[in-house]
Amino acid sequence: MIMFCLLCDSQEKLYDGLCKKCYLNEFEAIKLPEYTTFTVCSHCGATLKKNKWQQVGYYDDEIINDAIQKNIEVNPKLEDVDIYTQIINNRGTVYECIIHVSGNVIGTAINREYPIEVKVEKGVCPDCSKYYSGYYEAVIQLRADDRKLLDEEIRKADEFISNEIQRLCKTNKLAYVTERIVLKEGIDYQVGSHNAAHKIVVNLQKQFGGTITQSRKIVGHDKSRSKDLYRSWILLRLPSFNKNDFISYEDKIIRIEKIGSHKFSGINLNDYSTESISWKEYDNIKKIADINDIKTTTVTNMTPNEIQILDPDNYDTVDLKRLDVMNNLNIGEQINVIKIQDRIYVILDDN
Ligand SMILES: [Zn+2]
Ligand SMILES: [Zn+2]
Repeated sequence: MIMFCLLCDSQEKLYDGLCKKCYLNEFEAIKLPEYTTFTVCSHCGATLKKNKWQQVGYYDDEIINDAIQKNIEVNPKLEDVDIYTQIINNRGTVYECIIHVSGNVIGTAINREYPIEVKVEKGVCPDCSKYYSGYYEAVIQLRADDRKLLDEEIRKADEFISNEIQRLCKTNKLAYVTERIVLKEGIDYQVGSHNAAHKIVVNLQKQFGGTITQSRKIVGHDKSRSKDLYRSWILLRLPSFNKNDFISYEDKIIRIEKIGSHKFSGINLNDYSTESISWKEYDNIKKIADINDIKTTTVTNMTPNEIQILDPDNYDTVDLKRLDVMNNLNIGEQINVIKIQDRIYVILDDN
């Protein structure tokens, strides 16, 4: 019996009832929809890749290719398949693409092109949805011990935190401040990420000194991950003193010169040596005077062992032990002194 091609009546060898030419003409290399989509966060531009939001490193070509691949079906009869997509045009949220398919079928190499549209769908990634809902994991509490924060300190801290946020948000989407709250006792910064808040406070302390204390509380429960949700409060307590203030520590009177991250240091007015004190000792120190308590007086006499000055309050003469560091003083010279608990200390500024 002679078989004929169903389409052209040819008597050649048939494939599924068709001659080779008609079979190849009719052959669909892939099945594809009219269009396919991918999802982009309308706030931050993150792209959804296989159920995971990608912030960086997921480029247009790969996104389009993935969006197409997930929606096309390759004809199982096609062998040695090679597919690549080409973006022809981009009109706003629509990419016009061509899918190039090549392979072998019934021993013949074929190349096909299929147009497809790839549309951008707007979504909101979980990080942005947290941000827009005001979600925060931590509160940075900026305070000063035993005094009000100075305007200057607040301004510097604001600037510092904003720079830190800008740096951290590149790698941590929850590094944002939802709210900055001015309170009688200081400033609260509500921060999306606990990690970011912690890093900021550690760096803030390096700049400003002070002590950090932390507490946390359960504020809810994440059913989907069966995890408790915590919020932490990270308190940076700036010292009661500033540079040039006078503190008492053990039985010493110290004029603060440097405020560092691990310790603060100053001049011990008993012998003019430098004292360094760890922040761990903070609760054992007390601010006792500041620059406004400094008074000026006159050196009235100097002997090998003593220096005589006038008490700035009542002009009585006072004899102090003469130390080597005072050798540059001269009789009649105006000097700065501080009177603490009825004792007068000479301040050697160029020391
Ligand atoms: Zn035919
Ligand atoms: Zn987003």
